[in-house]
Amino acid sequence: MMKNLKYISISIFILLVACTDNKTSKSEITLYGKKLKRPHEMLKRFIPVAEHFDYPLGYPDFECYHDAKPFGVNGHLGADFNGIEGGDSDLGDTIKSIGNGVVTYSDGCLLNIMHRTIDKKHFIITSIYYHCDTLFVSENEIVKGGQVIALLGKKDTQVAHLHFEIATDTNMVGGFYGADTTGFMNPMTFIKTHR
Ligand SMILES: [Zn+2]
Repeated sequence: MMKNLKYISISIFILLVACTDNKTSKSEITLYGKKLKRPHEMLKRFIPVAEHFDYPLGYPDFECYHDAKPFGVNGHLGADFNGIEGGDSDLGDTIKSIGNGVVTYSDGCLLNIMHRTIDKKHFIITSIYYHCDTLFVSENEIVKGGQVIALLGKKDTQVAHLHFEIATDTNMVGGFYGADTTGFMNPMTFIKTHR
């Protein structure tokens, strides 16, 4: 009960901060032609701690999935998680949050969840989920590790898969491709070393 009260009061505070932010913040970044708002600095203070992380598909162990296109291949800034049966066999599968966190960006097919880690080097990281279909969470919502956040889709891609990134730069909302990997980590390595 006390735990629920804590979550409710944190949620209310974040909503208040978010409302204030809408009125005052002009800090925007432009990415792929879209204007996106940076996560409010105050919001970052209230990110729940994630003591460990698990895989977003085949949660928690990545069962029946593989990394079809690893981080760094041809400038890939994420990893493409795909069902081992290939094609669209994984279309509509549930995507789960890799750890406790707060949703900092959501636009229908792209989700960002910010996490506070117990890792001193990468204190705050963002997990990024792209090509999603239905989203079950919205911006400023607190999520728990293992919570269903979306369905796997094929928005902006030909074959259903999850493009998944780990950003250490908290202003990132999705890098997709780029010669410079600064601000991103290999998602497979990150999860393997933080389970
Ligand atoms: Zn990808």
